[in-house]
Formats: sequence, structure tokens, C-alpha cells
Amino acid sequence: MNDHAPNSWEARAAQYALYGFTDLPSVRDRGTVVVTHGEGPYIFDTNGKKYLDSNSGLWNMVAGFDHKGLAEAAKAQYDRFPGYHAFFGRMSDQTVALSETLVNVSPFPRGKVFYTNSGSEANDTLVKMLWFLNRAEGRPQATKILTRKNGYHGVTAVSASMTGKPYNEVFGLPLDGFLHLTCPHYWREGRDGESEAEFTARLAAELDGVIDREGADTIAGFVAEPVMGAGGVIPPPEGYFQAVQAVLRRHGIPLISDEVICGFGRTGEIWGALTYDFMPDAIISSKNLTAGYFPMGAVILGPDLSDRMQAAIDEIEEFPHGFTASGHPVGCAVALKAIDVILNEGLMDRVREGAPRMQAGLSEIAGHPNIGELRGIGYMWALEAVRDRDTKTPFEAALSVSERIANTCTDHGLICRPLGQSVVLCPPFILTDAQMDEMFGKLDAALKQVF
Ligand code: PLP
Repeated sequence: MNDHAPNSWEARAAQYALYGFTDLPSVRDRGTVVVTHGEGPYIFDTNGKKYLDSNSGLWNMVAGFDHKGLAEAAKAQYDRFPGYHAFFGRMSDQTVALSETLVNVSPFPRGKVFYTNSGSEANDTLVKMLWFLNRAEGRPQATKILTRKNGYHGVTAVSASMTGKPYNEVFGLPLDGFLHLTCPHYWREGRDGESEAEFTARLAAELDGVIDREGADTIAGFVAEPVMGAGGVIPPPEGYFQAVQAVLRRHGIPLISDEVICGFGRTGEIWGALTYDFMPDAIISSKNLTAGYFPMGAVILGPDLSDRMQAAIDEIEEFPHGFTASGHPVGCAVALKAIDVILNEGLMDRVREGAPRMQAGLSEIAGHPNIGELRGIGYMWALEAVRDRDTKTPFEAALSVSERIANTCTDHGLICRPLGQSVVLCPPFILTDAQMDEMFGKLDAALKQVF
């Protein structure tokens, strides 16, 4: 049990803060890391301890924690015009400029953008858009949303219903009409003797079957992360998006790419959809959109959906939806700068160049007998711990091996994320080779200590 001095930061955190997404036994034992500031990929706690954050905050701090240009972009806009919405016929110049930029960097030849404060709200907004559109076009029954088990799409009632994680049962979720298909994880879900191509074909057939069973005219859309992030970094099996999209097109169902994690460089391309060579009907963006320097999300509609949305809105003369801070000018100014930094200051190039080094370093560590699988792409990787490598037998969930690995890493001054039985590494794009080696060294030492 930790025994922090009364009135210390840690004691006050325990007394006054409710923790979300936190393993409470760990906090009870170890206390809270109360963070004061950051430098590059490092954060510092109230005791002056330094940690390399291979979690990039929460996937998002891709330019590190003290990027001067991003802070200056925010300050300049706070000085010029600190806050506004994007409604009632008014919109800040920054909101207009960002919308134009987002459409230009999207894979779409034309499109339109709607802003939120988070990725969850962007997924919520997307679902409301599809419901709005289908009612306006005379298909009020087309409400069901298809996603995958283990996929993560957020925490609002709708986006948590899209999320395919059992922990949402504590809220009585998912809501009716949110259907979860098989997780596209070949290593875990593939059957004995089944090739990767056969696995993909099975998942496409499953999708086809679900659509036939439910009725294509009852389904509003299929939403998927190009690489599942919070599901434990699960890249799709070979040909997956091509096979899935062929089924969806045959039934006239839109494919939405949730690029909250993958978007803006994490996979080594600007969009995960580009990495996996498919053309979605809409994109959900957040996190890297502002490099974590402002809370913001966006729905980017491709040509078909934006034309139809515009026609539906024209008909009703209003889309009654939006958040007080939708299109916040400071957020938009920061996003404009973040996109510039990621694309034009070489951040995305560094992911592309650094990915083979990351894979090679982690492959060495993955030689450990209790690591069953190393998987990932770009700067998003996971090592899955197993009791028995040959049979892929997991550790009992109660043992929470990944939690112990992550806690030991924290002791060594490395932040990484336990997810299920996996440990996830998704460092900032600015990581130098020496910092990457530091990450490998600390992770290796932690693994040797735990096993
Ligand atoms: N979609 C994906 C793929 C995510 O990874 C996340 C968050 O991690 C979300 C949506 C939700 O975003 P937020 O936490 O900003 O609500």
C-alpha cells in the first residue's frame, strides 16, 4: 500500500480525483504519477522523476510535449480571437481554413467537414448524420451500425455501443442495433490450418451473412479502424478491407474509416486507409489532428455522403447538431499547425524511416519465451504475453501480466500501455534513435524482471 505524505500531490489525487480507465489495485499499491511537464518524448512527475512516454500521451502527442511552434500557434490565436462556435451562419476564419486543408489532405476529391471536441463525439456525430440522412431519404429503418469485436470507437453512449469491448456491459451497453463482427486478428481468431487469405474470406462471408440476416435496408454503416488500436494493435489480415468493401458496395452500405489513431502518420502514411489501399466513404479524425495540443475531433465526409448530407440539410433547412466549441478557432489554428508539422517538418517521414528499426528492436525482445506475438506497423506495436508460446495459451486474466510489465516499465522510467495481455508501444514521431534504444533497453529489463 502506498503511504504518500498527507497533502502530497499523490494523496490529493487519491482524495479528490475519480480515475477513468485505471487499474485501481495498481494505483492503490503504487500511487498516482502526477505529471508536471514534458520535454520532447519525456514527462516529469512531481518528484522530478523522468519517464520516456512510449504511449505518446494517449497515441496523440506525436510532436512531443514541448513543441514550440504548436504552443505558439495556440497563443497567437488566443491573442487574436480566443473562442467561438461554428453555427448560426458564423464561423471563424481558422475553421474555414482548416476545413479546406482537411478536405485537401483527405483521400477525397471533394468533401465536407464537421467538428467535435473528441473522437467519441465524432463517431457519435457520424452515426447521427447517417440516421438523419437515412430518414431524410425515406429509409428510417436503416439505423443499425456494424463494427468489430475488440474495436474501440469511444465512450459516449453511441460510440461505446460501437466499441466491441465487454467492459461496456457495466453500463448496460451496447444499445440495440449495434452489431459486432469477428475481430480480424488472424493469430488469435484464425482456425487450425486456415490461411490468412481464407481467414479474410471467412470474415467477408460473415459480414455478408449478417447483412442478409438483418436486411441490408436496416443497416446504416460499417465503421472500422484500419489498425485496431485500443484492441491491442491489430493490423488487418491480408486483403481484408478490399474483401469487406466489396461486400459493403454490393449492399450499398457506407464504409467509415475511424482514423482517430491511424490518421496523420501513425501507420507511416497520412491515413491508414492509404496504407491498406481502400477508399472509405468518410473519415473520423481526432488525436494527431492537433498533435494532442487541443481537444478536437472531425468527421470528414467524402463526395457521396457530403452531397447527400447537403441535399438533406437543404431540404430540412437545418442540421440540428453541434457542440458549443465545434470548430473552436484555437483548436483549428493548432490543427493547421499540427498538420503542417506532421507533413512538412518530416514527422511522418520519421515514422516511415524509423518503423523498420522499431520492428527490428522489438523483434529481438519478442524472442522471449513468454511473448507469443509481436504485431504492428509504423509506430504502433504490441507484444502479447502468453503462458505457453506453442499453444498460445494466455496467462489467466486475473494475473494481469501486462499490467505488471507496464508497472515495472514505469519503475524503470518508461511509460507503456497494458492492453489485455499485450503491452503497447506507440511513441511520439520525434523519437531519436538513441531514445528508441532507451525504450528497448527499459522494456527488455522490465520483461526479464517480470518473467
Ligand atoms: N476512435 C478510436 C479509434 C480511438 O482510438 C479513440 C480513442 O482512443 C476514439 C475513437 C475516441 O476518442 P476520444 O477519446 O477523443 O473520445
